[in-house]
Amino acid sequence: MTTSERSADPASDPATEPSTGPSTGPFADVVAGNRLHAESYDQRGLHPRAAKGLALLTCMDSRIDPLGMLGLAPGDAKILRNAGARVTDDVLRTLVLASYLLGVERFMVVAHTGCRMAADSEHDVHAAVRDAGGPDTRSLAFLTTTDQDAAVRADVQRVQSWPYLGRVRVGGFVYDLETGLLRPVC
Ligand SMILES: [Zn+2]
Repeated sequence: MTTSERSADPASDPATEPSTGPSTGPFADVVAGNRLHAESYDQRGLHPRAAKGLALLTCMDSRIDPLGMLGLAPGDAKILRNAGARVTDDVLRTLVLASYLLGVERFMVVAHTGCRMAADSEHDVHAAVRDAGGPDTRSLAFLTTTDQDAAVRADVQRVQSWPYLGRVRVGGFVYDLETGLLRPVC
């Protein structure tokens, strides 16, 4: 509701105006960026259904631009992200909604080169968190893998075999951060 109200009259809150809202604190830079974004915002009216019938799971890695990577635009696809692009229970839950309510008919699992979740062991990541001043995280499964392609295949198979998602076509890929190219895995 707030978004539609704001987008209904973006000129009422110009980017050049000093902040009149609550303190933006550690988010000052991105809130300022948002004001610039809103000046040329033209995505009003996009349909919530995925225009390309696509959902994509990729890593949270900040080097990845999920839409740009696939030549897509806002409105085209549902984007799911987590550490390592692993198919978790939450990914499955989200896909059920995306499939039946949001027009998703195909789903890509996209891992990437240089992913720490495919470079370090579970033990190493727990130790790294501890070394960074964090708590003992050994009760958490970070879902690291020593065989990235095998993990992608297993995750694709998990989606394919999930009874709620029988009508979704699934593919697995690895995105190369050096070339920008996708490598099909399965
Ligand atoms: Zn990653």
